[in-house]
Amino acid sequence: MEFRLTSEQEIFRRTLREWCEANLEPIAAEIDSKEQGIPDKIIKGLADLGVMGITIPEEYGGSMIPGQEITLANVAVQEIARADLSMSVPVYVLLNIGWGYLVTLHGSEELKKLVLPKVASGEGFVGIATTEAGGGSDVANVATTARLEDGKLIINGEKSYISGIRETTEQRDGGHLTLFRTDPDAGHRGFTFAYIPSRSEGISTTVYEDVGRGGLSTGGFRYKDVVIPESYVLGEINRGFYVNMEGFNAARILVAAACVGATEKALELSIEYVKQRTAFGRPLAKFEGISFEIAEDKSRFDQIQMWLRYTAWMADQFYSEPGSFTHNDLSHAVSICKLEAPHLALETVKHSMMYHGAFAFTKECPLELAYRGVLSYVVGAEGGTNIQKLIIARETIGPEAIPYR
Ligand SMILES: Cc1cc2nc3c(=O)[nH]c(=O)nc-3n(C[C@H](O)[C@H](O)[C@H](O)COP(=O)(O)OP(=O)(O)OC[C@H]3O[C@@H](n4cnc5c(N)ncnc54)[C@H](O)[C@@H]3O)c2cc1C
Repeated sequence: MEFRLTSEQEIFRRTLREWCEANLEPIAAEIDSKEQGIPDKIIKGLADLGVMGITIPEEYGGSMIPGQEITLANVAVQEIARADLSMSVPVYVLLNIGWGYLVTLHGSEELKKLVLPKVASGEGFVGIATTEAGGGSDVANVATTARLEDGKLIINGEKSYISGIRETTEQRDGGHLTLFRTDPDAGHRGFTFAYIPSRSEGISTTVYEDVGRGGLSTGGFRYKDVVIPESYVLGEINRGFYVNMEGFNAARILVAAACVGATEKALELSIEYVKQRTAFGRPLAKFEGISFEIAEDKSRFDQIQMWLRYTAWMADQFYSEPGSFTHNDLSHAVSICKLEAPHLALETVKHSMMYHGAFAFTKECPLELAYRGVLSYVVGAEGGTNIQKLIIARETIGPEAIPYR
């Protein structure tokens, strides 16, 4: 049993940290405040370091080390999140390497050649589109439909709260892995999950004004008779619900990684500040009301970081040694990460803001970026808190705990 990163993984982590501190951290607030999105030099820099291709095999332009891909992706997203507390760049990266991984695992040869080289080089973006205005948690309620005609799928419907609208229609190229209904009478056995290029004919978009994560757009898609070839389907027609759920496992590990990275940075900012700021003739660190709270946050951080590392390792085992873990084992471990990490990040950031006093209420202080950015993962992005509880309850208690049966 080994709990440390290998020396090669540690070198990768350190190299990335140095790069992020030099190139990303100084412009994080600027990225958050601009509609132009993440600068090409950041995406290109991360691609050159092998980050964008971390879950993509070499033959498609990636840098994947089989059996370590999720462990390394976890390390990468944590490091990027430390440097960009707004969560714009970490989320941009985690969507690409999380959902890109699903294309690696379940895409046809044609789809892999279309999507993966561009993701790995940073020219393209691949996201996820399941949520609809009618609700996001109840994925089985999706109303977007498609009919199959002569080897093509013709899609009609709408998606909401989707990340990567401008990125795939204006700033770069790409599209979204999209869930739609292909058999209206088959419940969740009637869904298909397929890649839809965002510039396809018949697509119109809207962009929302979010409270945080300003460097990455969210919005909606409307599909009117959008045509894609059947080869863009992930897995099989009518098996899309299961493929989609598999993708959530990888993506949620990386969401937790972003939150753990933000927590680590917030703790560091707290520690630095409470040692030098004095009140009543002593540094803030001397007051137990503050030092004990930092101790509590640090102890939760250590627990979650270790659990996350274990879960990433479990995901790597799941794919490299089939049968080592079941899909349900993995979902259970992943949901613990997604349940805990966003809340810990938000609380640690909030605590740190309290120690920083009035300074925390200014845009000079990087913590406000984190507060707004991390909130996206508390309110629901990549699955709401209660949905993680539902999954954990199902795995702990059994099918009796599933409310919709
Ligand atoms: C910044 C941001 C980016 C996003 N990006 C994407 C994206 O790229 N692609 C995409 O498809 N979606 C995206 N989403 C949407 C996200 O997946 C949904 O917000 C999420 O699935 C929750 O859906 P909802 O917001 O419709 O809330 P609802 O499903 O309406 O739920 C509302 C509340 O009720 C709770 N709830 C729901 N069901 C139960 C239950 N059975 N028991 C107890 N409580 C329950 C939820 O936890 C939540 O707190 C994004 C969201 C945000 C905020």
